[in-house]
Amino acid sequence: MAQWRPDELMTDTALIKQLADVAKDEALRQGIVMRTKENPNSSELVTYAPFTLFPSPVPKAAFLQALAVQTHYNTLVDRVSQDADFLQKALSSTIKVDDFTARLFKIHQQIQKEGGSQSIVLGLNRSDYMLDQNENKTSSLKQIEINTIAASFGGLSSLTPGVHRLILRMAGRLEESRLIPDNNPAAGLARAIAKAWELYGSERAAVLFLVEEVQTNIFDQRFIESELWKRDIPTLRKRFGDVAKTGSLDQDKRLFVDGTEVAVVYFRNGYMPQNYISEQCWDARLMMERSLAAKCPDIHTHLVGTKKVQQVLAKPGVLERFFPDQTQVVEQLRATFAGLYTLDMGPDGDQSVAMALADPDRFVLKPQREGGGNNLYGSELIQVLNRVKGSSERTAYVLMDKIVPPSVQNYLLRRDAPLEISSCVSELGVFGVYVRRGTETLMNECAGHLLRTKSSEHSDGGVAAGVATLDNPLLV
Ligand code: ADP
Ligand code: MG
Repeated sequence: MAQWRPDELMTDTALIKQLADVAKDEALRQGIVMRTKENPNSSELVTYAPFTLFPSPVPKAAFLQALAVQTHYNTLVDRVSQDADFLQKALSSTIKVDDFTARLFKIHQQIQKEGGSQSIVLGLNRSDYMLDQNENKTSSLKQIEINTIAASFGGLSSLTPGVHRLILRMAGRLEESRLIPDNNPAAGLARAIAKAWELYGSERAAVLFLVEEVQTNIFDQRFIESELWKRDIPTLRKRFGDVAKTGSLDQDKRLFVDGTEVAVVYFRNGYMPQNYISEQCWDARLMMERSLAAKCPDIHTHLVGTKKVQQVLAKPGVLERFFPDQTQVVEQLRATFAGLYTLDMGPDGDQSVAMALADPDRFVLKPQREGGGNNLYGSELIQVLNRVKGSSERTAYVLMDKIVPPSVQNYLLRRDAPLEISSCVSELGVFGVYVRRGTETLMNECAGHLLRTKSSEHSDGGVAAGVATLDNPLLV
C-alpha cells in the first residue's frame, strides 16, 4: 500500500519556506486566485486562494466510495424534489419557526399551485463528507451535508492538483505525487449547464449567473463561464437587484434580463437570508422560479438541501420510499449517513434533547443555514438547547452526531498568515451533475471532487468563511 510519511519534510523549515514560496507563485501562475477582502468587487488586486502546502492522505477506498455513491445522491435529490407531499411533511415543523425556510417554501408552494414551470431540470450539487474514526482506528465515510445550491470551488479545484504535484516533485516525492488524482469539476459542471441550455433550444438565450453582492470568489465562477463561451453559449452575470430592475417574463413565461433571453439561471447566491437584501430580491427569485428558464437549482431542489430534509431522509424506511426495490442503492446511500436526530415536539424530539444535553461533545446542533459558521458545539450547544428545548423554537434545528476525523500535520497557506505547522482535518466534497427533461434523465454523473482542509481548532467554516483551505487527496 502506498504511504505518505511527511515527517522529515514537515520539520525542514528552510525547505518548507522555499516550497511555500513556489506553491504561492504556482497558484498565482495557474489562476487559483480570489479577490481580496478589501477589494471584493475589483480584480485590480487579487491573491492566491488559501490552500495547503501538501496534499492530505485520504484512504483510497473511502474516496472511491464517495465517488461511486454520487449518482445515487443525484437521483435521490432529484426524486425528493419532485415529491411535494414528502417536502411538506418533512418541513412542516421547521417552516413554522424558521422564517427563511418558510419563505422558500412559500415560493415552492406557489410554483406547485401554478402547475410547475419548466420540464428541464438541472442539478449541480456537492455532497460533503468527513471520515469518522471508530474506536478500532478504522474510519468510515460520513456525509456532512449535501449542497444543492451554489456549491462552489469546482473551478479552482480543477487546477490545484498541478500545484501539489509540483511541490511533491520538488520535495523529492515523485512516487507520492502520482497518488494525487486528476480533477476537473469545472468541465462537468459546464457540460451539464450546456446540456440544459441546448434543451432550452434558443441560440440567442444566455446562461444567467445569479451572483453575490460581494464577489470575492469570482474566478471560481469564471472557469465555468469560460467553458460555456468555448461552446458559444453566452453568459450574463447579474445580482438579484439587477434582475428585479431589468427582468421580466413575456406571455409564454420566457425570462428576459436586460434585454437578453435567459435559458438557464445558475444561482451562486440566494442560499442565506442576508442574500435577499430587499423585498425586490424575493420578487426576483419568484419571477425566475416561474419562468421557462431552467433553474439550477429550482426552488424544490433548493429545499432538498436543507438540514431538516437530510435528517428526515436518515430515518428508518424513508430512503425506501425513493428507491423501492433497490436495496443495494439504499444500502450504499445509508452507509454514508451519520446519526441525525429530530428536534420536533414530541417524545422523539424530547429524547434527542436529553441525549444531547447528557453528552454534548458527541453532537452538533445545526440550524437551517448554509455558508458555514452557523453550527453549535459544546457549551454553545448546551446554552441554545436549554433556551429552546421547551418550545417549538427547537424545531428550527436538527441534531447530528459529531464526526471526529483523523488529524494530520500540514501548512495552511493564506495571505497574511504566518507559515506554521498545524494539526488539520479534511472534508471531501464530491460534485454531482444531472439533467432531466420531464421524466427522462439525460445526464447523471459524478463530476469530480474537492478536498478542503482546516486547522482542527476550528469546528466549523468553509473556504469562503476564511477557515478552510483548498487541498487535494493523496490516495493511500
Ligand atoms: P454549511 O451549510 O454551513 O456548510 P455544514 O453542515 O457543511 O453547514 O457544516 C459546516 C461545517 O461544520 C462543516 O464544513 C464541518 O467542518 C463542520 N461540521 C458539520 N457537521 C459536522 C458533524 N456532524 N461533525 C463534525 N463537524 C461537522
Ligand atoms: Mg457545508
